[in-house]
Amino acid sequence: MNFSITHHGAVDGVTGSCHRLTLVDGRSVLIDCGLFQGAETSRQGAGADRLTIDFPIDDVCALVVTHVHIDHVGRIPYLLEAGFTGPIVCSQASAVLLPLVLEDAMKVGFTRDRALIERYLAQIRRQVIAVPYRQWRPLVDGGCPLRLRLSPAGHILGSAYVEFEIVDRALRPAAAAEVVVFSGDLGAPHTPLLPAPQSPYRAEVVVLESTYGNRLHESRQDRRQRLQAVCEHAFGNLGSVLIPAFSIGRTQELLYELEEIIFRNQRRPAAPGVNWSDLEIILDSPLAADFTTGYMQLREHWDAEARGKLAAGRHPLDFSQLTTIDDHASHLRTVERLARSGRPAVVIAASGMCSGGRIVNYLKAMLGDPRHDVLLIGYQAAGTPGRDIQEYGPRGGYVQLDGQRYDIRAGVHVLGGYSAHADQKDLLNFIGRMHGKPRQIRLVHGDAEAKNVLAAALRERHPQSEVLIP
Ligand SMILES: [Zn+2]
Repeated sequence: MNFSITHHGAVDGVTGSCHRLTLVDGRSVLIDCGLFQGAETSRQGAGADRLTIDFPIDDVCALVVTHVHIDHVGRIPYLLEAGFTGPIVCSQASAVLLPLVLEDAMKVGFTRDRALIERYLAQIRRQVIAVPYRQWRPLVDGGCPLRLRLSPAGHILGSAYVEFEIVDRALRPAAAAEVVVFSGDLGAPHTPLLPAPQSPYRAEVVVLESTYGNRLHESRQDRRQRLQAVCEHAFGNLGSVLIPAFSIGRTQELLYELEEIIFRNQRRPAAPGVNWSDLEIILDSPLAADFTTGYMQLREHWDAEARGKLAAGRHPLDFSQLTTIDDHASHLRTVERLARSGRPAVVIAASGMCSGGRIVNYLKAMLGDPRHDVLLIGYQAAGTPGRDIQEYGPRGGYVQLDGQRYDIRAGVHVLGGYSAHADQKDLLNFIGRMHGKPRQIRLVHGDAEAKNVLAAALRERHPQSEVLIP
C-alpha cells in the first residue's frame, strides 16, 4: 500500500474522531477532528480537559468532515488555533450546519471572547468547501495529490462516508488507483428523513465505525408503537413525557415520528379529554430549534418518504402542535406550568444524558411526581445523571442533580433504536454489498467488546480480508 493510516482519536472509544491518511511523500489529509468526551483520551494524551492539538499538522493539506456531530468536529477551533489554514471539505448540508455547531461548541468550552468566536467562524466559512454527494472531486485546493467522493451515510443530515483515490501516478502503483474509504458514522436504513446509505463499489482499505458492532436495533415500526404507548401511559395519568435528547439528529427524528403518530391518530384521544391533535409538543432548546430550522431549509436532502409528506401538505418538523421555547424566562414558566397543571405534553430538551441543559430543571420539578414519565432514547454513559435515572429510577431510587438528591417517582422508560447508528447487520451489509472487497478493514469508533464481536463476524464472512483493530 502506498499510504499509511493513523488514528488520533476514536480508536480506544467513540469520541474524539480524528484519522489521518498519509501518502508516501509525507503529505496527509485529516478525516474529522472531534471532541473527546467523558473519560476517553487519545493515545497521545489529549482528552476532554486537554483538547489542544497534540499531533503535527505541518504536512496536513486538507481536513475532510464526515458529519457535524461534536465528537467529529469539536476540535476544529483548536486546529485553527494550531495554525491550520487548509480547506475544510464537507457535504453541502454539513457546510450549512457546521458553523451552528461550532459556534455553540466554542461558547461552551473554547472561549468566552465573542470577538475571537466571530473571527474563527469567519475563518471556518472561508475555509469550508461544500462538495455535492456522489461526485469525484480533485482535492487541488490544499495541494493534495488525491481526489475524493462523498456519499450519503444516512446518520444525520449531511453525513457522508468518504472515498479517497491517489491521483499522482508517482505516488501509486501503475496498475490501478487504490481507494481508501472512511465510513464516518453510518446510519441505519430506516432513519427518518434520510436516504439509506449505499455501499462503496470497491476499496483497498475501509476504516469502519463499530459503535453497535455487537448489537441489533429494534425495528422502526416497534419503536414508533412503543413511543406512542409511553406517551399514552403518561397522558393517562395526566402527566407529561420528558425526553432528554441530543440536539442534532435525534431531536429531528423524534419530531418526525411524533408528527406521524399525531397524523395517524388525529381523532383518537391521547388521554381523557385530550385528542392527539390537541397535544402540546414542546421543543425547549434554542440550539435544537436552530438545527430544526436548518433541517427544514435543507429539505432537498430529505428522503422520498419525507418529501412525499411535504408534497401532501404536511410539515414533518414544523407541525401545528409544536411549540419552540427560546428565552430562559419562558423556559422557567413552562417548567412551572407543566409541573403544576397536569395537562399532558411531550417535552424534548437537551442534554441527552441529563448532565446539563434545560432538561435538568424539568427533572428537578417533575421527577418526584408519579404522573410524569421520563423517556430515555439515547446511550447513557456511566457516571451521568441519565445513567442513574435509567438504573435506579425503576427501583424507586434517586439521582443527584446539581449536588441535590431527587427521589424518582416518575416512570422511567428506555427506547432503543433512535441511535442514528448502524447496527451489526447494517455494518456487515456495508462491507458485504461492496463489489470489490477490501484487503484490509480497520475497526474504529467502538468499545473493545463491540469491535471484537464485529471483527469475528467480518472474519467469518470475508476470510480474504485482513480485519484489524488498531
Ligand atoms: Zn455521529
